[in-house]
Amino acid sequence: MSGNEGKANIGIVGLAVMGSNLARNLASREGNTVAIFNRSYEKTEALVAEHPEAGFLPAKTYEEFAASLARPRTAIIMVQAGRPTDAVIDELVKVFEPGDIIIDGGNALFTDTIRREKAVRETGINFVGAGISGGEEGALNGPSIMPGGSAEAWETMGPILKSIAAVADGEPCVTHVGTDGAGHFVKMIHNGIEYADMQLIAEAYDLLRRVGGFTPAEIADIFAEWNTGELESYLIEITAEVLRQVDASTGKPLVDVILDQAGAKGTGAWTVQSALDLGVPVSGIAEAVFARSLSSAPAQRSAAQSLPASTETWSVDDRDAFVEDVRRALYASKIIAYSQGFDAIVAGAAEYNWDIKKGEIAKIWRAGCIIRAQFLNRITEAYADDPELVALVTAPYFADAVGSALPSWRRIVAGAALAGIPTPAFASSLSYYDGLR
Ligand code: NAP
Repeated sequence: MSGNEGKANIGIVGLAVMGSNLARNLASREGNTVAIFNRSYEKTEALVAEHPEAGFLPAKTYEEFAASLARPRTAIIMVQAGRPTDAVIDELVKVFEPGDIIIDGGNALFTDTIRREKAVRETGINFVGAGISGGEEGALNGPSIMPGGSAEAWETMGPILKSIAAVADGEPCVTHVGTDGAGHFVKMIHNGIEYADMQLIAEAYDLLRRVGGFTPAEIADIFAEWNTGELESYLIEITAEVLRQVDASTGKPLVDVILDQAGAKGTGAWTVQSALDLGVPVSGIAEAVFARSLSSAPAQRSAAQSLPASTETWSVDDRDAFVEDVRRALYASKIIAYSQGFDAIVAGAAEYNWDIKKGEIAKIWRAGCIIRAQFLNRITEAYADDPELVALVTAPYFADAVGSALPSWRRIVAGAALAGIPTPAFASSLSYYDGLR
C-alpha cells in the first residue's frame, strides 16, 4: 500500500476565476483527481456544488489539503501575485514534506520566483514558478504553460501539466523552460511581446481609419482578410471581431464609444525594466508600454490639444496599395518585436544560467496563449536551422519578409510623420532595424 489510494494527484490553492477554471480543466482530464483549497471556504463549497462532475476533494484547512494529496504532493497556487503568494507558500511549507512540489501559477515577477525557489529549496520542497497564459478561457480549456523549477519537479508535474495544456499540431503547449525563475521570465517576455502586438494593431487601425478613410466595419473586413495570411493570429482575429461591434444604445461603432485610455497590469513594464538591466533594446515593447501611459494621461492630452501640428495632407490615391503598405509595415514591425523579445530571452538565459531552448518557447506559444500566431512556426524553424542564431530578424525567412516589406514600411513611417499621426512602434522598429544593420 502506498498510502496514496483515494488521494488527489494535484491540488489547487486559490479558487478565483483562474484557479477554479484550472481546477475544472484538471478534473476533466483522465487520470486526475483534484484537491481544492481557498482561504475563504465559501468559494470552495460553491465550486464543489456547481461542479459535482469534477469529483473535487475539498479542504477546509491547509492540513486537510496536504492530507488529501498523494505523494509527492503537487499543488498549484493561483492567488494574487506578491504578498498573498508569499502567505500561501509559508502555509504550504508547514504542511508539505521534502520532495513535494509547490507551483506558483500566478503572474509573479521572476526575481521573486528566484528568491522563493531558493528559500523553499532549503526545506527540501520543490518550488516551481510557472507562467500560465490564456486568461480565464485558456485556464478552462487549455493554456500555454511555461514552468521553471528543477528537473526533478518537472518529472512529476510534466505529465499533469501536459494533460491540461493547449495542443498545437498534436503537441501540448508546455515545456520545462529552465530552472528557478526561467518560466516566469519567459511568461513576462510573452506579455511584453503581447503589448507590442497590440500597439502595432492599434497603429495599423489608426492609419486605416484616419488616412485610409475606412469605417470600423471596413477595417474589420481588412483584419479578417489579414487573418487568412502570414499575420494570422488570435489578436488579429479578435480585432476584426471587436471592430464589427456596434454600441446598442448609440448605434455607433463600439470602438468610438470606448474611452481611449489603456491601463496596464505591470508585466509590460517589468519586461522593459528587465531589458534595461540586461542591456537589450526592446524598443517596440517599450513604445507600447509608453503609448498606454500617454493614453492614460488625459489632462496632459487635453492641455496639448492647441499645440501646432504643421502637417502635410496625406492623400491616398490607391487605397488597396495603402492597405497593403500598412499590412507589410505591421508584419515587419511584428518581426522586430519578436526578434527583440527573443534577444531578451537569450540575455536573461545568459545572465541567470538558464538553458532555454528558443525554438521550444515559440512552439509552446502556438496555442492557448494570447500571442498565438501562425508565424511562431517560422521562429521554431529558424532556431532549428541555427540554434545559435544571433538575431531572429537575420534568419533567412524573416530577413526576406522584412526586406520585401521595407519600401512599404518606410512609406508608412515617413507618411505618418508628415501627416502628424503617431506610430511609435512602427517607427521605433524601423529605426531599430536601420540601427542594427
Ligand atoms: P486574483 O483576483 O488575482 O486572486 C484572488 C484569489 O487570491 C482568491 O482565491 C483569494 O482568496 C486569494 N488570496 C488573496 N490573498 C490571499 C492570502 N493572503 N492568502 C490566501 N489567499 C489569498 O485571482 P485570479 O484573477 O484568478 O488570478 C490568479 C493569479 O493568476 C494571479 O496571480 C494573476 O495575476 C494570474 N493570472 C490571471 C489571469 C487572468 O486572466 N485573470 C491570467 C493569467 C494569470 P479569497 O477568496 O479568500 O479572497
